[in-house]
Amino acid sequence: MGCYVSVKDDAFLSNLKNLSSIVPFMSYSVIEELLFGKKSKLNLSAIVRAKQVHKESKEKTLTRYLESIAAPGKNEKAFVWKGDEVRAYIHAPFGYEYLKIAEGCDNNCTFCIIPTIRGRQQSRPIEDVIKEVKVMLGQGIQEIQIISQDTTRYGTDLSGKPQLIELLEKIDETISVFIQQSNIPTSQHPKYRVYYLYPDIMTLEHLEKLTQLKHFLPYFDIPFQHISEHILKKMGRHYNQKHIFSFLDTIRSSFPESFIRTACIIGFPGETDTDFQELCDFVIKYEFESVGVFQYHDEPLAASSSLPEKVADEIAKNRVHIL
Ligand code: SF4
Repeated sequence: MGCYVSVKDDAFLSNLKNLSSIVPFMSYSVIEELLFGKKSKLNLSAIVRAKQVHKESKEKTLTRYLESIAAPGKNEKAFVWKGDEVRAYIHAPFGYEYLKIAEGCDNNCTFCIIPTIRGRQQSRPIEDVIKEVKVMLGQGIQEIQIISQDTTRYGTDLSGKPQLIELLEKIDETISVFIQQSNIPTSQHPKYRVYYLYPDIMTLEHLEKLTQLKHFLPYFDIPFQHISEHILKKMGRHYNQKHIFSFLDTIRSSFPESFIRTACIIGFPGETDTDFQELCDFVIKYEFESVGVFQYHDEPLAASSSLPEKVADEIAKNRVHIL
């Protein structure tokens, strides 16, 4: 189920025992059928094809199967929840829920295979997202967590330009109207946080606009991955140190209660002791509230696997430990 089956081929599948079905990611109706074993009111074409393909898996490749149900570029956006299907808010009892605003990614970070698996970015139209925000508010969800692979580029596939700020302004307004109408106490006013902001598209002016929002939580999840200029370039990340520094300085000065989370990949091909030291200095200087530290591994389908100057496992492990 999910991404994993998307990168596996027939040989892999035919070796699996007790496989009853293949469930591609975001196939909600398939999951419902598997759980309840009944004829669903929802569109079941995906599970019908999943079962059929399983029977025929010797003749038909999984790749062709995946293409047949949701090839990126087809008119039907099969991977994006459309807003009128049943959706269970499983995190609601904990007071929050995820709101997916787009699926897929147009970046080509050399270490990542998500664009290969999930295809190009497909954003949900603003009105569709707002419709779900209203459903979430009506269900008493107090914190909406906005996600997608590259939230910063939200809307580019729809209008030719990033529309994240526009979307956030509309979500903010929707929450304000909800608060007015429901007369709930201030302590229970709904909020939202945004996952994954990339400084290549986000400008300092955008940050200024975020300060105007009433219900935006100053939680910044920015997976920089590294700070060394030449490693960023090899990673295919489209930002430089100068912008990162002014971006972070602006967040700290504009949002007194900011919480910044980042993530770093250690031991990327070509990473020298100097690059690593630069990264350590960066992490120390900005006193991030949270840092995810990951050791680099070659992923066979990723472009970075073919890069020279691999860092020895022992050195990379040691750097992870130090950081
Ligand atoms: S790391 Fe994130 S931004 Fe880069 S290609 Fe993967 S999903 Fe897209």
